[in-house]
Amino acid sequence: MVVYLKDFLLNIFLIFSPLVFYPYIKRAQNNIILYKSFLYLFFALAIITTMFFPISVNGLTYDLRSIPLVVGSLYGGPVVSLLLFGTLVLCRFLLGNAHQWFYIVSILPTVFVVLLAVRSFSHLKLYQKMLVAVMLCTFMKLIIFISFLAYTQSLHLFTDNLLENIRTYLIQGIIIALYVYLIELVNRYFRLEEEVFKGEKARIVSDMAASVAHEIRNPLTAVKGFIQLLADPDIHEEKRRFFQKICLDELNRAERIISDYLSIAKPDLEIVERMNLNEEISQISSILVTYANYNNVQIDLILSQDDEVYMMGDKYKFRQALINIGKNAIEAMHNGGLLEIKVSKENGWASITISDTGVGMTTSQINRLGTPYYSTKEKGTGLGTMVSFQIIKKMQGKIDITSKLGKGTQFILRFPSV
Ligand code: ADP
Ligand code: MG
Repeated sequence: MVVYLKDFLLNIFLIFSPLVFYPYIKRAQNNIILYKSFLYLFFALAIITTMFFPISVNGLTYDLRSIPLVVGSLYGGPVVSLLLFGTLVLCRFLLGNAHQWFYIVSILPTVFVVLLAVRSFSHLKLYQKMLVAVMLCTFMKLIIFISFLAYTQSLHLFTDNLLENIRTYLIQGIIIALYVYLIELVNRYFRLEEEVFKGEKARIVSDMAASVAHEIRNPLTAVKGFIQLLADPDIHEEKRRFFQKICLDELNRAERIISDYLSIAKPDLEIVERMNLNEEISQISSILVTYANYNNVQIDLILSQDDEVYMMGDKYKFRQALINIGKNAIEAMHNGGLLEIKVSKENGWASITISDTGVGMTTSQINRLGTPYYSTKEKGTGLGTMVSFQIIKKMQGKIDITSKLGKGTQFILRFPSV
């Protein structure tokens, strides 16, 4: 019994090992090939190791390989599924187990049923997913086991140990149901996180809407005036060209304000790439200018002398993080002020300094930054800094904050430069 328990616990440890890495694998989800390769790798490892350390009870050997096989297939899709089945068969060949060809034939119905289930698995509800996993796992074991016993004319082994067998199936069912539940828990966390990110983005867009509307009213008013002037038939040709040029310039400005504004509402592509920090920060600063003007804040942009400051990251997420911080800085300057955004490169780090001349924060307020729902604003959500900090940390960035009450705040962000 003790030996059995030891083997059993070892198997549990082995089959749950992919779950430990699952949150990390999940982060690679945007790169589908990498994500699937990781899924395959970890579940294949779990299958292989459980096959090497099976549980022996009453002369029969059990292992829980069907659990990583079924879970890996359901979450990995058809290709991963086929690869996992292939790995299983290959392992059996390498282990030199008997009745190889018979095993391959007996596994085929399961491959077929699993492939069928994989197709609609992701649309199922939680309890349905758990049920499907339990059924697949039981089905696989039953089919293989019974056909094997029938083939070797030892069916009595199954009925002799009926209680033992039922117990094994029950335990296995509970484990796989728990497995699916835990994976779904991790998935839910990622979905919630994504929703908070999206919600905050929508808030930036709506908070900035008034300033954008205000800012494009000026060029439109100017254009309207010049068009009225152009209506005069006696106008000198030189003047006409001059007015036309102003009209075009003003319309271009309005267009740029709108397209800058729309660029923050764009859907996330989630591509990690090399970005030129001077270019990125210029873009972010021009998005913030409209909001700053509206709040009587002047923006001072100091780019790095060295134009070759590069870092890795997802442009859209990076933009969201910095606009959040910049927007907070602008909002901290109730009677206008100066927002300084500086890019520099210092021994291997690409750094961005965002300083404001706003209300400032106490040390305890600084410490609360980044925790959810901390806000001192009437209509604040207190999620902006949390989202920004998460994005920055995911990009291996470091955050340094210094602040003086009544004087202003300085955010220094450092990223590994490439
Ligand atoms: P929200 O902007 O919705 O209040 P955030 O998470 O963006 O939520 O910010 C949380 C709080 O942190 C703000 O309410 C504000 O009190 C404080 N804060 C953030 N940035 C600054 C800053 N640059 N100067 C002063 N206070 C700030
Ligand atoms: Mg905010």
